Parts: sequence; structure tokens; C-alpha cells
Amino acid sequence: MDSYSKSILRVAVITLCLMPLGLTGCKASGHDSPNATQPPLTSTAASAPPQAAEDAPPPEKSGGFDGKRAFAHVAKQVSFGPRPSGSQSIMQLRDYLQSELKSYGCTVETDAFTADTPVGRLPMKNILVKIPGEKPGVTLLGTHYDTLLMENFVGADDGGSSTAVMLELARMLCPQHGKYAVWIAFFDGEEAMKHWSDTDSRYGSRQMAARLSISGDIKKIKAFLLADIVGGRKAQFLRESSSTPALVDLVWNTAAKLGYAAIFRNDATSAEDDHDSFLKRSVPAVDVIGDFLNNGYWHTPQDALDKISPKTLAIVGHVFLESVKQLQSK
Ligand SMILES: [Zn+2]
Repeated sequence: MDSYSKSILRVAVITLCLMPLGLTGCKASGHDSPNATQPPLTSTAASAPPQAAEDAPPPEKSGGFDGKRAFAHVAKQVSFGPRPSGSQSIMQLRDYLQSELKSYGCTVETDAFTADTPVGRLPMKNILVKIPGEKPGVTLLGTHYDTLLMENFVGADDGGSSTAVMLELARMLCPQHGKYAVWIAFFDGEEAMKHWSDTDSRYGSRQMAARLSISGDIKKIKAFLLADIVGGRKAQFLRESSSTPALVDLVWNTAAKLGYAAIFRNDATSAEDDHDSFLKRSVPAVDVIGDFLNNGYWHTPQDALDKISPKTLAIVGHVFLESVKQLQSK
């Protein structure tokens, strides 16, 4: 076996999940954690530049997706401060999301619920944009908009970036009517409150999947494309192994065709995330997630605006737009 195959194999056996570093219950084996020595708990948000260090490509080069607008959405979210579920700041963010979505002409549904968590009962709310289609069948896109419960953690990349991408996609897609419906979910409560587990994590996506099961609408979902941690300046995306292989192929082939093969790599990884809530209910799903274990700031207060690239946001937005087009042509 050559070293290339070995490295693929090594990466393939890693089990990752989205939980605060230093807590037990979730393994990241086979890797030396880059965060073994954690930086001090200071916020870099206050000193982060309001402008990005690098420019986005002009929208016409990314299918109309505007990386600059997406970056501004990340900056806005960060300006609210830490946004864990149940906080005042996540309520401010929710108002912002809803007013933006309404200004794009989107049809918006919300679902307020109470989650029993290890830190008590917390009010949460999912937001669901519904863009109608001509034929039965739904393409679901999704992000989580809450941030990790940690002092000085503003989640520019983890929570902020994918939410910004989904806002910009909503701006583009809400005025259109495709062959199939497109729904865009903004989940509350993805992050664990204490220790990542099936009961302490993914509160919002579990709630939405359960509700859609009760109504029967979950059967209409042909594909679920999830984005998480998609804005890093040096972001790399690896094929997530629990995701539905045909959907991983669709997204990665689309990325390669658009010239992004160096960023959407063919190595494998494994991550627990909001797609699991739908996979467990037999919905085909793919998690497009940055290689967070190697970004050096995941689940630390260094996950601030200075880590975010409008160019990466534009690339991910472009890949999602083209993947939706591919799904619409089936
Ligand atoms: Zn996280």
C-alpha cells in the first residue's frame, strides 16, 4: 500500500464530532489534535477587522452568489456576540435572519419548542424557508445558527459561515420557482450543552425531522445538503463517510467541474452533525463540513471573523447552487 492510500485509510477511521474540546464521549482518534494546548480564553472578535483580508470573486464567477454579501452576514452575526441557544443574542440573530429572509420575499415558517438539556430547559426555534416547486419532491438545504456555549466564543466559522451561505442562497433562490421545491432550514441547538451525545446535541434538527415525520412531509425530501464550518481561509472539505454516497459524489463532482477539486478533496473523514437527524429517518443526506480538526481554531474563542474568507464562502455557495441545479434536473 502506498503512502497515499495509507493516509486515506488513516483519515477514514477517524471518528469526529462537534463538541467542545477537552470533554469526553467523542473520539478523535488517529490524529494528534492541533488544539492539544488550548489558547487562553480571550476574544479576538473585538480586534477583528471589519473587512476581509482577501476579496471575494465577482458574483458572476460564482454563479451569482455574492461572497462579499455572505461575509457581511458573518460579520453581522459575530457583532451580536456569543449566540448559544436560549441567549438574548440568539434572539437578536433570529430577528435579523427573519427580517433578511422576508426582505428577499421568502416564505418563512418557524417552530418554537422547548429542549430539555443538561443545563436546563431552553427555548429554541427552528426557521424553515419554503420555495415551492412544480413537481412533488423537496431539496432541503440546512445550517445551524446557534453557537457553542463557551465564554467569548463567537463562532464566525462554526455557526456563522454556513448561516451566511444559506442567507445568500435564500436571496438568490426565493424569487425562483424550480422543478422541485427547495427548503432551507436554519436549525437552533446543534451544539451540545455539555457532552456531545445523541441526546445532548442536534436539538433543532432532531425536532424538525420528528415533526416532518409526523406530518409525513419527510418522505418528500429527496436530498438534504447540510453546510457547517464552511468559511475558513484555508478550508478543505473531505468526503464525510456517514453521508449518502450518491449525494457526496454529486456534490464533489459538481465542485470538481467548477474547478474546486483542490478544496473539495477526495480524502474521507467522519463527522456527527445535523445530517444524522435525517439519515436516521432514511433521508439521503450529505454534510459539507470544513476539516475542523485541522483548522486550529475549532471550538476555541479564536473562531473569529479574521478566520473567514469571502472567497471560500463564494466557492461553497457556488457548489451548493450548482448542486441544487443538478438535483433539479433529475
Ligand atoms: Zn461546533
